[in-house]
Amino acid sequence: MDNILKRKVVLWTLWALFVPPGLYLIYQYYPPPSISFADAAAYLLFFILACLLPMNINGVPTYLVQWLTVAVFLKFGLFAEVILSQITMLIVILRLRTSESLSIRIPFNSMMFFAISSLAGLTFLFAGGQIGSVDLGHILLYGLLFQIVSVMSNQIILYVYVRILGEHKNFFSIDTIWDFSITLLVFPLAIALYISETYIGLTALLLLGVPFFTMTAIMRMYNNSEKVNSDLKKAGEIGHQLAARLSSDEVLDQFVIQVADLFQVDYAYVIDYRDGKLIMLRMFEHDEFQPLTVEPVQYNKGIAGSVIIHNTSYIYDNKAQWKGIASGYMPGDTESLMATPISRNNKIEGVLVLGSKRKHAFVHHQLQILDILSTYFAVSLEKASLIQKAIAKSERCGLTKLYNYRYLDEALEKCMVKVNSGELRNLSVVMMDIDHFKGINDKYGHQSGNEILIDLANLLKEIVGKEGTIARYGGEEFVVLLPNYNKDIAMLFAENIRKEIEKREFMIQSDLDEDRSTIPIKITMSIGVSSAPDDSDDGMAMIRNADRALYIGAKQAGRNKVAAYTK
Ligand code: GH3
Ligand code: MG
Ligand code: MG
Repeated sequence: MDNILKRKVVLWTLWALFVPPGLYLIYQYYPPPSISFADAAAYLLFFILACLLPMNINGVPTYLVQWLTVAVFLKFGLFAEVILSQITMLIVILRLRTSESLSIRIPFNSMMFFAISSLAGLTFLFAGGQIGSVDLGHILLYGLLFQIVSVMSNQIILYVYVRILGEHKNFFSIDTIWDFSITLLVFPLAIALYISETYIGLTALLLLGVPFFTMTAIMRMYNNSEKVNSDLKKAGEIGHQLAARLSSDEVLDQFVIQVADLFQVDYAYVIDYRDGKLIMLRMFEHDEFQPLTVEPVQYNKGIAGSVIIHNTSYIYDNKAQWKGIASGYMPGDTESLMATPISRNNKIEGVLVLGSKRKHAFVHHQLQILDILSTYFAVSLEKASLIQKAIAKSERCGLTKLYNYRYLDEALEKCMVKVNSGELRNLSVVMMDIDHFKGINDKYGHQSGNEILIDLANLLKEIVGKEGTIARYGGEEFVVLLPNYNKDIAMLFAENIRKEIEKREFMIQSDLDEDRSTIPIKITMSIGVSSAPDDSDDGMAMIRNADRALYIGAKQAGRNKVAAYTK
C-alpha cells in the first residue's frame, strides 16, 4: 500500500471512530433547543455568505465566520455550533486552492474542526457557562473563554499534525498572531449579534451583517489594488534587472526565476517557437532548473500551440479546464495554468507557461503584468544578442574570422595568470610569418594575397583544432597559444604546421592576369616558439621571445624553419 493510500485509510478510520459517535454523544448530552426553520435558514445563509467572501490578508484568504459561530454557540449550544463548523470546513476546503486530495483533507479537517468545537464548547460548559444566558458579564467572560480555547486548540492540533508529518513549524508564527488578533477583533461582533438577536430577533443579523459584508467587500477591493500595485512595482524592478544582463542565457534564466518568484508558481516553462516546432528552452520546477528532456513538438500542439495559433494568453483555474487541450509534458499535480505568447516586433518568438498546484492560482491582472514582463524580456534578449554580436566582432579579424591581436593578448594574460598560480603547468606560444609574402602580392595582386590569407587561416584552424587558440596577430603573422604544451611538444606541433603548409597548394585567381586563370601557389612559413614557465613568466615577453626566435632562428637561418627561443 503506498503512503498516500495508507494515510487515507488511517484518517477515514479515525474519522469514523470519532466524529459520528462524538456527534451522537453531544446530541444526547447537550440536545439543541428547538430551532425554527426561519432562524436556521437565516443563520445558514449568512454563514455561507461569510464563507464565500473571505478577506485576503497577506495573500491568505481569511474566513471571518467566528462571529457567527460564537453567536450560534451562545444561543443554540454545542451541537448547532459543531454542525455549523463542519459546514464551514466543507465550504472552505472546496474553495481553498490546493491540489492535495480531498479524500485526505476532508477527514482530517472534519476531525480537527470537531475537536476544536468540542474542546471549546466542553470547556465553556464545564467551567459553568450557560447557553442562552442574558447576563452580559457572563456572556463576555465565557464567550471569551470559548474563543480562546478555540484558537489555542486549533494552533496546537495544527502544530502536532505538522510535526507528525515530520515537517518543521514554529509554534508562534505571524499566522498565530493574525489568528489571535482576528479572534479578538470579531469577538465584540459576536457578542453584539447574540445580544441584539435576543432582543430584536433576526433583524439583528441584517443590522450587523450589512456593515460587516460592506467592510469585507471594501477590504477585498483595497487588497486587490494593493496587490496590483506591488506586482507592478516588482515587474518594473524585474525589467531593470533583465536589461542589465549581458548574455541571452542570463536574460532567459533571470526571466524565468523572477517570474516564478513573482507569481509564486510551482512550474515555469519557456518554449521556443522555431521552424514550425515548439522547443523547450527552460524548465523550472520547484525553484530549480531541470535538464531539458522534453522532445520538440509540432507548433500547433497543446496549450503552447493554442497560444501560438490564436496569439492570445490563457488562464486555466483547474486541471479539468485544460486537460482536453494539453498534449505534451505537464507535471501530474498541476492545477492552474497561465500561458502567454512572447513576441518581438509583433512576431511570436515563444510561449511562457506557468503552472501551479493550487486551483484558481492566477488572476487576470497578472496576465497584463506578464505581458509587460514579456516585452521587457524580448527587448533585453535582443539587446543582449546585439551586445554579444558586438563583442564577437570586436574579437575577430574581418578578413580571416580568426581571433585578433586584442583577443589573443587577453587570452595570453589569462593563461599566464594560470601558469604563475600553478593551475597550468606549461604554456607555449607559436608565432608564424609567411615567407616573402610581399613578393606574392607584387606578382599576383593584393586580392590574391588576401585569398591565400583566408585559405591559410582555415587550414591553421583545422590543424590547431581544440589544442589551442589561434589568432591573426598582424598582416601575415599568426600566433597559436598552446596550454599544457611544453617547448618540446610545441616544437613538434610547429614543425607539423610548417610541413602541412609547405605541402599545400593554395588556389588563387590572379587579379593581375587578364583571363583570371586559377593558379596553384605554394608558400612557406617561418616559425618561432617560446614557452612558459621556462622562458618567461610574462605574457608580453612570451610574444617578444617567440618573435625573436622567428626572426633570428628561422628567417635569418634561411626561412621555412621552426626555431625555439633560447636565452
Ligand atoms: P619575410 O617575412 O619572409 O621577410 O618577407 P615578407 O615579404 O613576408 O615581409 P614582411 O613580413 O616584412 O612583410 C609583410 C607583407 O605582407 C607586406 C604586405 O605586402 C603583406 N601583407 C600584410 N598584410 C596583408 C594583407 O592583409 N593582405 C595582403 N594581401 N597582404 C598583406
Ligand atoms: Mg610579417
Ligand atoms: Mg613575411
